[in-house]
Amino acid sequence: MSDNDTTTPARSRKPLGLKRSVDAGEVKQTFSHGRTNKVAVEVKRRRKLTRPGEAEAAPVAPEPAAPAPAPSPAPAPAPAPAPAPVARKPVAPVRPPVSDETRQERQARLLREAEEARLATLEEANRRELEEKQRQLEEEKRRAEENRRAEEEAKARAAEDATAGEAAAVEPVAEASPAGDTAAEQPADSAAEVSTEASQGAEAEAQGEVTPAPRRFTPVARVEPKKPEKKKEEKKGRTEPARLTPDRGAAATAADRRRGGKLTVNRALNDDEGARARSLAALKRAREKERRSHRGGNNQPRDKQVRDVVVPEAITVQELANRMAEKGADLVKALFNLGMMVTVNQTIDQDTAELLVEEFGHRIQRVSESDVDVDTSEDVDPEETLKTRPPVVTIMGHVDHGKTSLLDALRGTDIVKGEAGGITQHIGAYQIKTKSGDKITFLDTPGHAAFTEMRARGANVTDIVVLVVAADDGLMPQTIEAISHTKAAGVPMIVAINKIDKPEANPQRIRERLLEHEVVVEEMSGDVQDVEVSALKKTGLDNLIDKILLQAELLELRARPDREAEATVIEAQLDKGRGPVATVLINRGTLKRGDVFVVGTESGRVRALIDDKGKQVKEAGPSMAVEVLGLGGVPSAGDQLTVVENEQRAREAAEYRKEKANAKRTAIAPASLDTMFSNLNSDVIEFPLVVKADVQGSVEAINTALHNLSNEDIKVRILHSGVGAITESDVTLAAASGAPIVGFHVRPNANARQLIERDKVRMMYYDVIYHLTEEIAKEMIGELGPLRVENVVGRAEIKQVFPAGKRDKAAGLLVTEGVLRKGLFARLTRRDVIVSATRIESLRRFKDDVDEVRTGLECGVVLADTNDIKPGDMLEVFEVEERERTL
Ligand code: GDP
Ligand code: MG
Repeated sequence: MSDNDTTTPARSRKPLGLKRSVDAGEVKQTFSHGRTNKVAVEVKRRRKLTRPGEAEAAPVAPEPAAPAPAPSPAPAPAPAPAPAPVARKPVAPVRPPVSDETRQERQARLLREAEEARLATLEEANRRELEEKQRQLEEEKRRAEENRRAEEEAKARAAEDATAGEAAAVEPVAEASPAGDTAAEQPADSAAEVSTEASQGAEAEAQGEVTPAPRRFTPVARVEPKKPEKKKEEKKGRTEPARLTPDRGAAATAADRRRGGKLTVNRALNDDEGARARSLAALKRAREKERRSHRGGNNQPRDKQVRDVVVPEAITVQELANRMAEKGADLVKALFNLGMMVTVNQTIDQDTAELLVEEFGHRIQRVSESDVDVDTSEDVDPEETLKTRPPVVTIMGHVDHGKTSLLDALRGTDIVKGEAGGITQHIGAYQIKTKSGDKITFLDTPGHAAFTEMRARGANVTDIVVLVVAADDGLMPQTIEAISHTKAAGVPMIVAINKIDKPEANPQRIRERLLEHEVVVEEMSGDVQDVEVSALKKTGLDNLIDKILLQAELLELRARPDREAEATVIEAQLDKGRGPVATVLINRGTLKRGDVFVVGTESGRVRALIDDKGKQVKEAGPSMAVEVLGLGGVPSAGDQLTVVENEQRAREAAEYRKEKANAKRTAIAPASLDTMFSNLNSDVIEFPLVVKADVQGSVEAINTALHNLSNEDIKVRILHSGVGAITESDVTLAAASGAPIVGFHVRPNANARQLIERDKVRMMYYDVIYHLTEEIAKEMIGELGPLRVENVVGRAEIKQVFPAGKRDKAAGLLVTEGVLRKGLFARLTRRDVIVSATRIESLRRFKDDVDEVRTGLECGVVLADTNDIKPGDMLEVFEVEERERTL
C-alpha cells in the first residue's frame, strides 16, 4: 500500500494520506507487541477508508478527516485500552493459562480481538455514514439536474429542433461532470494501482460520459458484482431499465442512468475499498463458507452412493472408513456422537461398525471368521478312516532329574552333549520305534510352563505324561507343579523313578511322598503306573515303554492319515541359515513337501521336512514331529498348522488372522466419556513393553516374570511378544506406544536398526531374565515417581455460576469445611460423581483477589480447565504430598 502511495503522483491529498499512514504506523510501534501488529492492520484499513473520502472530494472529505487524523495518535490508542481491560478483567483469571507465557499470548489475542471488533464496528459506521452522505449528494444532484433538464426541455421545445433531444442527452452529462467527474477521476487515478477494477470502472464511466450510449454502462454493471449484493441489486434496478429503454427520448431515464453510473463509480471505489478492507477476513470467510457448502453439496451425492461394506467381526475405524470411502475423522466424529471416544487406529466390533455403516447410509455385509479363516474343528473324519496313531508323550520333572538323559536313553542317541551347560533349552520332539514296531513320540520340555501354555492355546497335544523323579532327590517344587499341571490337563501320568542306579536312591520314599499329592501308584495299589529306571545305566527302559504303550492302548489313540495335514507348532524360531523354522507335531493327515499351509498368522509352502534325526523326509504322518521349512514368518508355539488348497487361500487366511491379532493388540475398550473419567481417577500407570526372544520358552518366561512386577499402581503391558529378531513392525509398535523393546538373546535386523535410529526407540538387551526384571522394576519405580498422598483441606458448595469472559465461567460458592486456597487441586463433584479434576485458578471475595477463604464464607472461584460447573456441585480441595516410593 505504501508503495502505491509513494508511486502515485503528488496530488494534494495523496501525500497527506501517506504521511498519515506512516504516522499511524509509527505511533503503533510504541505499543506492546501484541497490539502493534493489530494496529498496523487497522491503520491500513483506515487509510483505505480515508481514500474514498478523499476521492469523494469536498462533501466527503470531512468525513474521513474525523477518523483519519484521529486514528493514529488519538482514537486508536485511546479506545484500544478501553475495551481491552474489559475483556481482560474477566477473562484473564477465568481461562486457565498454563504458563505466564500463554497468559500473555492470550491477553495479546484478546486485545487483538477486541481491537478487531472495535475496528469492524468503526468501519461499518464509517461506511454507513459515507453511503448516507453519498445518497444525500445523489439526491441533491438529481434535484439540480431535474431542474436543469426541465429548463433545457423547455428551451428545446421552444427551439423545436429535432436534435434537441440529443443535445439534451449530451449536455446534462457535461453539467454533471463537475460534480461527479472530479469525484470519479481522482479516485480513479489514486485507485489505479490499488484496484484495476475500480479504474476500469472509472474509465468506463469517463467513456460513458462522452458517448451517450447506454451500453457503456454495462462494464460498470459488470464491475458491480464485486460489490455487496444489496448494492448490486440497487444498481441493477437502476441500470436495467436504462438498458431496456435505450431510447434517447426518455431523457429522465438517461439522466438517471448516467447519474447512477457516475455514482456507481464513486460507490464502486468506496465499496471496493470497503470490500477490500473487509475482504481480508470476510472474503476469506465467505470463500470458506462457499467451499464448505460446495463440499456439502459434494457430500450429498457421495452419501447417496450406497456401498456394500464388508465388515468382519472386528475392524479398525480407519479400515472401516476406507471400506466406506468416508473420512476416518468423520467416523471418529460419528462415534463421538454415539458416546464413544476412539481414534482411527482403534478397533471396533461388528455391531458398532454396523451403526456407523448405517449412519453413513451404506449397507453392512457381515463377514464371519469362518468365511475367511481356515477352521477345521468342525471337520470330523469318519470312523472307518481312523487309524491307530502313536502316543505323544511329554516328559516332565524337576531340573536335573534326568528328563533329557531319559529321552536320550530311549532314543539311543546322545543329545545331552550338544546342549549348553547340560540344561535342556528348547522343546524338542522325537519319535522312537520300539522293538515291537510301535512308535512313541516324546516331547522334551524345559518344564511344565510350555505344556500349560500350549494347553492354554488349545493345543493339547500330549497324550501321556511321564513324570521323572530322581530317586536320590525326591519330590521337588517343579515335580509338584508338574503333577498339578498334568492333573489340570486331565492327561494320564506314568511316574518314572530315575537314577535308581545311585546308592542313595530310595524309590519307596518317592512313592510315599507322591501320596501326599494324591498320586497313588500301582505299587501303592493305585492306578498310576510307576517304573524304576536308570537313564544312565539304561535299565527299566523297556518296562517304561511297555507301560506307555499299554496306556496308549487304553486311550485308543486314532487319527486319519490320508488327508490334508493338521499339525501343532511345538516350537518355532528364526534360524540363521534356514529362515523361520517350526517344529510341528502332526495331529492328523499327512504333511507332504510342497503342501501349502497357513500357520498362525503366517502362510507358507513346505520346502523341506526334517525328522528328529535330522534327516529330510518327504512326508510326515499323525503323531510325527518334524521340522518344517518354508514358512513366511515365525509362528508361535501352540499355533495350528493347516494345509489349504492354494497359496491364495493361505495368504488370505494368514492376512485375516494377522489383522485380527493386530486388532486384538490395539483394541482398547472404546472409552466412553464415563470410562474416561473413571480412567482419570484410577491412576494406574501402564508400563508398555515389546518383548522379543530367541525361543518361545524364553518369551513365556519373560512375560510371566514381567507380569509379576505389576501392582495396583503400575502395570506392565506387553504390547507384543514373539520369537525372532526385532523387526520393523516391532519398532513401529514400540515407537507408537513409547515403549522400550526388550531383546532377549536377539538383536534388531538391519531395517529395524534404521527405524530404531530414526524413531529413537529405546532398546533393552538382556541375556539373563533376572537382570531384565530387576532393571524393569527399577524403571517402574521411576515411572511411578514419588508416592502422592492427598490431603483434603476444604470443601465448598457451588451456589451460583456466572459467565466470565467470552467462554469461561466463574462460580460463587460457600466454603462449608476447611479452607480454600488459590492454586490448590480441586475436584468438582455432582451428586458424588466426579465431574472434573481441576485447580483453583483464582479466588475472590468482594471483587478482591484473595489467597484463601475459610469456612462459612462465600467467595468466587475460577477453576482451571473446566467450564462444566453447575449450582449444587461440590468442590473438594486438596493438597498433594509427595513421598518416596518402594515397589
Ligand atoms: P534334566 O534337566 O531333567 O533334563 O536332566 P538331565 O537329563 O540333564 O540330567 C541331569 C544330570 O543327571 C546329568 O548329569 C545326568 O548325567 C544325570 N543323570 C540323569 N539320569 C541319571 C541316572 O539314571 N543315574 C545317574 N546316576 N545320573 C543320571
Ligand atoms: Mg534336560
